Amino acid sequence: MSAKSKGKILVVGGAGYIGSHAVKELNRQGYETVTFDNLVYGHRDAVKWGAFEEGDMANEARLRELFSSHEIAAVMHFAAYAYVGESVTDPEKYYFNNVAATLNLLKVMRAFGVDKFIFSSTCATYGEPQVVPIPENHPQNPINPYGMSKLMVEKILADYGRAYKLKSIAFRYFNAAGADPEGEIGERHDPETHLIPLVMEAILGGRKLKIFGDDYATEDGTCVRDYIHVVDLARAHILGLEKLLAGGESAVYNLGNGNGYSVKQIIETTEKVTGRKVPYDVAPRREGDPAALIGSAGKAVSELGWKPEFADIERIVETAWNWHGSRVESKV
Ligand code: UDP
Repeated sequence: MSAKSKGKILVVGGAGYIGSHAVKELNRQGYETVTFDNLVYGHRDAVKWGAFEEGDMANEARLRELFSSHEIAAVMHFAAYAYVGESVTDPEKYYFNNVAATLNLLKVMRAFGVDKFIFSSTCATYGEPQVVPIPENHPQNPINPYGMSKLMVEKILADYGRAYKLKSIAFRYFNAAGADPEGEIGERHDPETHLIPLVMEAILGGRKLKIFGDDYATEDGTCVRDYIHVVDLARAHILGLEKLLAGGESAVYNLGNGNGYSVKQIIETTEKVTGRKVPYDVAPRREGDPAALIGSAGKAVSELGWKPEFADIERIVETAWNWHGSRVESKV
């Protein structure tokens, strides 16, 4: 019996960047967790709390075994491929893993009578924004298979809710960033494609950052994004979980700070926080990058009582820097 819920919280993809921060926060708040991850992109050593089971959602028999050996109160689902460019060149990988394998997970949940589901969705489900900040009721027209795979799962959740009484919360993240302020876990993608880790690598490894385009219709010409701290994301998931455990209804929420920062502003902030120069070149635009993506997260604030604690961009960059800097130091 878990301290906070009748049964454990199953965290699928809990060895990944956002999932591992959710596992830490769940345990800190007194939940008992079991992490399920195939370790394709996840890291075993990022799961320092609760139980760990290695396995793949594509394997239904393995999922049945997992649900037989743990009493599960609710599921948080972070496991997905998330490289936008790769999703364009290899959509099969994205639809099989992000959609078909998720169907397995939902099927086994239903077989075991587990009816609470927290889902990692994305602002990539909106496509080109028609208004900024983007509200939840903005049209969803994803422009790549990654975003489409997430939107498909959102639609499936709505249908399963109507037909099978599945209760779900989908969180549409803007740009997840930063790291555990205690430095125990952080962001480790291979290959790394995200701006803030690449800015850190440019400082630490001397490899120049490429700014993808400086001719956008933004104040300084570089793309604007809404960076949201990974611990604030993790805490929102727990608020969503609490809502479902208390008998609340299904819902969809944006998670962002509602503030946009350009690529150049991220570079400037990093230079201020670290006291070091970021070497960079300006490169052509990256295909599929909207000029500005900013979320309106008022719904999560008012309905869930969510309050981002690391809303300050300097704090976000500082926690990322502490993580990346300490990892480089520990290698020498
Ligand atoms: N970006 C960049 N150089 C890089 C990586 C990213 O200029 O090496 C820009 C990218 O064009 C976007 C922003 O940084 O405007 C954030 O990109 P990221 O890949 O981190 O997240 P996305 O917004 O694509 O989810």
